[in-house]
Amino acid sequence: MIEIKAIPILQDNYVWALLPKNSNDAIIIDPGLAEPVTQFLQENNRKLTAILVTHHHWDHTDGIKTLVDAAQCPVYGPDSHAIPQVTHPLISGATISPCANGQLAVIAIPGHTEEHIGYQLLHQEQPILFCGDTLFSAGCGRLLGGTAEQLKHSLDMIKELPSSTLIYPTHEYTQANLTFAKAVMPNNRSVKDYTRWVAQQRNKHAITLPTTVARELALNPFMRCNDQEVVDAVKGHFSIDASDEQTIFTHLRLWKDHF
Ligand SMILES: [Zn+2]
Repeated sequence: MIEIKAIPILQDNYVWALLPKNSNDAIIIDPGLAEPVTQFLQENNRKLTAILVTHHHWDHTDGIKTLVDAAQCPVYGPDSHAIPQVTHPLISGATISPCANGQLAVIAIPGHTEEHIGYQLLHQEQPILFCGDTLFSAGCGRLLGGTAEQLKHSLDMIKELPSSTLIYPTHEYTQANLTFAKAVMPNNRSVKDYTRWVAQQRNKHAITLPTTVARELALNPFMRCNDQEVVDAVKGHFSIDASDEQTIFTHLRLWKDHF
């Protein structure tokens, strides 16, 4: 079994720490900053055995060098010139075992960036996905290198995962995303209920993650491009006639960019 903990960094990023039971190993995902991670490892008496990276943005990679200098550990990540720190380049479909009892499968989930990958932690009580900046609770990543077609395809892949899958995104964007979700789906009951819970959490400065596939299917407008309420809202907002899922998704992303 592997315990998962969040290390908050910067404004609203989480570095996810994977902590195998009966071991003092630690695997770290997307360290945008080294110091809070080093402190976490010391406090929890853990030895950094591997770093995993989802994509090249600085707030996911800037801490790598300092951590590797200290721990001499491997760095797994996309096969991309944009991340020279990666020592073990990965392709979709690969399986890695960065610690004794932790196995992860690599899936390509491009769109936010071209090279973006996610990691499925295998053999746990529930299916688990670390999705970087591809999906956020009640929202999704911006298009910063990939296409709307790629991003929709990636979200469609996530939709197909077991509904109990726990999803660990890299940002605490849930509350702001729900404001947009409410504008698009004013009658969605799940959005209303979740908004109340998220407000309680944030008032306590508590985390709102992980989320689940089931929850995102119910209230994430980017996962609901065939929902009539979403289709009507997008068509009304942009005065367009087309209602195919890709057109709705592309326009929804555009709407959120200027929201
Ligand atoms: Zn990013």
